[in-house]
Amino acid sequence: MIDLRTFLENAKQAGPDSFLEIKERHDIKFEVCALLAQLEKQRRAPVLLFSDLNTLGGSPSPFPLLTNTFASREACALALGLPAEKNGLDLVLEFQRREAERIKPLVIGRKDAPVKEVIAQPNLHALPILTHHLEDKGPYLTMTWSAKDSESGVYNSSFHRCYVRDERHLVMFFERRHLWEYYLRAERRDESLPVACVIGHHPSYYLANCALTGIEVDEYESIGGIMGEPLRLVPSETFGERLLVPADAEMVIEGRILPHERDVEGPFGDFTGYYGPPTESPIVEITAITHRRDAICMDIFVGHREHALLGAIPKEGSIYRKVQNVVPTVTAVCLPVSGTGRFHCYISIAKRAEGEAKLAAMAAFTASELIKHVIVVDQDIDVYDEAQVLWAVATRVDAATDVAIIDRVKGSRLDPVHPGKDWGSKMIIDACRNEEISFPGRITTADYKKEI
Ligand code: MN
Repeated sequence: MIDLRTFLENAKQAGPDSFLEIKERHDIKFEVCALLAQLEKQRRAPVLLFSDLNTLGGSPSPFPLLTNTFASREACALALGLPAEKNGLDLVLEFQRREAERIKPLVIGRKDAPVKEVIAQPNLHALPILTHHLEDKGPYLTMTWSAKDSESGVYNSSFHRCYVRDERHLVMFFERRHLWEYYLRAERRDESLPVACVIGHHPSYYLANCALTGIEVDEYESIGGIMGEPLRLVPSETFGERLLVPADAEMVIEGRILPHERDVEGPFGDFTGYYGPPTESPIVEITAITHRRDAICMDIFVGHREHALLGAIPKEGSIYRKVQNVVPTVTAVCLPVSGTGRFHCYISIAKRAEGEAKLAAMAAFTASELIKHVIVVDQDIDVYDEAQVLWAVATRVDAATDVAIIDRVKGSRLDPVHPGKDWGSKMIIDACRNEEISFPGRITTADYKKEI
């Protein structure tokens, strides 16, 4: 059985490049993220465990905090049980293989559930919740939320940024996707929506959250598929069997999203690398917190490498599969960190016919609405090496015929190019060799046979 602790054991054994415990006192407001940003400048991406933090209430935190868990493709490969160096196409294909498998969850009793060791007061100020960026409105919870659709009975699980308004209330930002739909369905009946924030689970749990599953898919089953074992669930304190929560999490925060009420959240530094503007968003009323006796809290360093990779790697597998449906000779897919792990998509194909590149790009757009620009290259280009991709654009593109723009397509609410709207234009760059002209061969050198 895997949980956050089994992952941490492996990460610790991988050495200080992969895992660092920070034992000195750090302030949850700004200081933790200042250290993270400093490491990023040094191009270091270890998983970080802060063991001496304060709580929002100002007292020493009984909980350490884990962050930067997804900050390298190597760490994400390890999380899926692959060797660190298999972090390109191997990782995409492994994710895709696991995504195709759904495993039904296993419901267990409260007494067997580690997350029920302590039933705590519903007080957010007892937790070490970070304030990330200088102009953020305040502290934000950044982990995933579980909810059950009252109509279909299907579970959704997804990341949502939540502003901590006070001890008992959060203001939750939504992209208009699955949880938003669940919420609207409940709100139309003037009902609140039971939800639970899952803090501290195996990284594969969170990677699974970012896969492009359809709204009809039970995400506790798809998470089990990605984790490679049934997800153990237990009834929530507040809602009982009506909302099952992960039994092996470090901590679960239960609550309900209130109908018809809104408050302001934001600004908040989000995945785009910009401050998202304030929004009028729904309010979550906290009803219970349960946790392990020695629980480890968890956070995402939003707007930075781990946020990009968390958004990228799970989607690469889904996009690969969608592209493969129309261009079976697709060879790799990458959502590069430079494109926020979401807005840019590089696809390589073994092109067999003119037009396949644009077809591959169109399939990618239908896989993820967040993609803005797709660059399609031939299979001799390594899509995980950005310099090669841009060389292909420089040397294989004739803009008048190889660039296509489609206006007014749904995208992200957070795209700073079209503030306040979630639609804009998409661009395809076909950077494959044109079959209609005789393209020169790539320059080659002889193999060097002597010792240097
Ligand atoms: Mn979903």
